[in-house]
Amino acid sequence: MFNLAAKPFDYLIVGAGFAGAVLAERLAAGSGKRVLLVDRRPHIGGNAYDYYNDAGILVHRYGPHIFHTNAERIWKYLSRFTTWRPYEHRVLANINSKLLPIPINLTTINTLYKLNLSSEGMQVFLAQRAEEPETIRTAKDVVLAAVGRDLYEKFFEGYTRKQWGVDPSKLDKSVTARIPTRTNTDDRYFGDTYQAMPKCGYTRLFENMLDHPNIKVMVNTDYREIVKSFRHDRLIYTGPVDEFFDYRFGRLPYRSLSFRHVTLDRPQFQPTAVVNYPSTDVPYTRITEYKYLTGQTHDQTSISYETPCDEGDPYYPVPNPENAVLYKKYETLAAKTPGVWFAGRLATYRYYNMDQVVAQSLALYSQLSELDGSLAQD
Ligand code: FAD
Ligand code: UDP
Repeated sequence: MFNLAAKPFDYLIVGAGFAGAVLAERLAAGSGKRVLLVDRRPHIGGNAYDYYNDAGILVHRYGPHIFHTNAERIWKYLSRFTTWRPYEHRVLANINSKLLPIPINLTTINTLYKLNLSSEGMQVFLAQRAEEPETIRTAKDVVLAAVGRDLYEKFFEGYTRKQWGVDPSKLDKSVTARIPTRTNTDDRYFGDTYQAMPKCGYTRLFENMLDHPNIKVMVNTDYREIVKSFRHDRLIYTGPVDEFFDYRFGRLPYRSLSFRHVTLDRPQFQPTAVVNYPSTDVPYTRITEYKYLTGQTHDQTSISYETPCDEGDPYYPVPNPENAVLYKKYETLAAKTPGVWFAGRLATYRYYNMDQVVAQSLALYSQLSELDGSLAQD
């Protein structure tokens, strides 16, 4: 049993998402440190949290999370805490009530325009339509340069406006550059070497990761409530960086989402795990049907509608030049704040996938081990 009064903690870690949990696990299991991990939500797992709903269906509270990476090291590291269910993600976009593969591929083009193009034919088709802006700077430029205006308007313009609350021309190119264009019939959403779902879910993965005698977890706890009560040598913070500094330079925009979870009395709702709705006729961007992700069999099915909004929990840093300048100020201040380290999507204001957050946290662990003059234990 952990005796809280006995000894101060080496680390207070704020946030039990991937960033906080990986650091807690490494510092405790790799370096023998005593860690207090706190989260203000009522659960561990951060945005990757999943749970069995009242119907007994495993769902993701904060929207669909599919694990994918090209990094063997990250795959191997996480495989210590879970076995995997092989899963390749497929998404359809609802374009005028027709369901078409996204990322745009040969099937998308042939079905949408009633053509029978080969791969080479599709390359010529796109080359004839692609627009070449002088420089490719924005999320709009990237798509126009790849597929031209009609496909941009059908698949990207409305979705991006809904998702981010601004026009694609006001966002960095990195946002839409996440989505490839394929001239073959590969209809997988991700092309990574490793793609899978944790066999028993993400929350179980986190439980396994944090199951160590040197880690004490407190949920329902804002760190500000306890920071003075529990002595600690170092602080690792994975929440929003502007909040940490009491918005000293102003608020960093984070886009939020509202989820409507619904369970239906039928075994299936839609033909793939996710259907995207680029049209601005509906407020939501996508509907997810969770049984596809988990492989669960059940007479009922659970889905969620995802509607982006400004207010609410912060989910996405908003990548654009203005926000990069503001973040830089916080980053400089963070680097000068003694005894505190920042990690994760919110604290380093980066539109990171789960594997990138794990990689960043492992890198921070190495840095901290070096400070102690010890080797990071893999
Ligand atoms: P988070 O998971 O946000 O964890 C931060 C934690 O800090 C939160 O739990 C918060 O409650 C806590 N916290 C903040 N402030 C305080 C405080 N003051 N006191 C105590 N606790 C605090 N990535 C993929 O790889 N594949 C996907 O398919 C995918 N899908 C996604 C879908 C959606 C809708 C979203 C929003 C993200 C998706 N991601 C996906 C990205 C993924 O969620 C993130 O990369 C990852 O979860 C970030 O982990 P994190 O630890 O940095 O942050
Ligand atoms: N996007 C789009 N239409 C789509 C899918 C994606 O316009 O059907 C754009 C949108 O701007 C989105 C970005 O591409 O925010 C990245 O998409 P991704 O699916 O990677 O977003 P995430 O899963 O992170 O929400």
